[in-house]
Amino acid sequence: MAATIIDGRAIARQVRDQVAADVAAFTAETGVVPGLATVLVGDDPASAVYVANKRRACVEAGIADLHRHLLADVAQEDVVAQLQELNADPQVSGILLQLPVPRHLDANLLVELISPDKDVDGLTAVSAGRLVQGVPGLRPCTPSGVIELLDHHEVPLEGAEAVVVGRSDLVGKPVAQLLLQRNATVTICHSRTRDLNAVTRRADVLIAAVGVPRLLGADAVKPGAAVVDVGINRTDDGLVGDVDFDAVREVAGLLTPVPGGVGPMTIALLLRNTLIAARLQRGV
Ligand code: NAP
Repeated sequence: MAATIIDGRAIARQVRDQVAADVAAFTAETGVVPGLATVLVGDDPASAVYVANKRRACVEAGIADLHRHLLADVAQEDVVAQLQELNADPQVSGILLQLPVPRHLDANLLVELISPDKDVDGLTAVSAGRLVQGVPGLRPCTPSGVIELLDHHEVPLEGAEAVVVGRSDLVGKPVAQLLLQRNATVTICHSRTRDLNAVTRRADVLIAAVGVPRLLGADAVKPGAAVVDVGINRTDDGLVGDVDFDAVREVAGLLTPVPGGVGPMTIALLLRNTLIAARLQRGV
């Protein structure tokens, strides 16, 4: 039987509507309008589009758009000063430094300057530590979006065999931590994993976050498994994931498409994180 296809756009819409309602209630109760400061350095066209989408989504959710655009040749100390100013500004609930930044800037140093309570991308070492320790904090958006998709379809995670392919700080490691917190039995695969398909075939829940077009085919998937494809790869056939969609849909129980699966969830979870940050700053 063919897999049920997960509609990431529809689920993201629901999350965004819920965030908008929660923001309105928070503002009515506290008088505080949550604000997101997106920081774009330079004029990379792809980054400009991503930031514009995030800003539009903010406004739609009732979150203040506190964008800053810095020149491509801005000095490191000027970006540092801007981030420090945003950290200190009580109107700013969340700070998002759009990556990549121009090569003359030290991206890691800049990210680490962001106050962990405003780190809506969940990328600082403190946020990563809070995630590993399971204490309240801001979780990275794409990994949270993966869990949200699974929860929406009521995929049982407790005791499930979960396999994550990819171990980046951005996706693979945090998604594995989130699955572990939900009491899945988690295996992380990477480029040195021996017999990848033998490992992934054990998975009740399979997450692909690799960046290799159609790496995982039908023989990588256990019949009936829930498969979430985080990969976004530009090919001659257009955007494709890390999963061979046409082959795997005949084997899996649930499957995300690319595009229209995980992608739309990232902005939705960014909005939710901005509200969580606003609450954290009020000690809620
Ligand atoms: P990344 O930093 O390049 O990490 C890729 C991971 O895949 C690494 O851990 C690497 O292993 C592993 N890997 C590479 N080739 C492999 C192979 N043949 N077999 C098994 N593992 C292999 O990438 P990323 O930032 O995590 O992103 C992964 C994908 O997700 C990309 O396509 C990216 O565009 C997409 N993405 C999508 C969203 C979204 O919103 N939907 C957000 C972020 C990323 P090693 O560690 O051993 O090198």
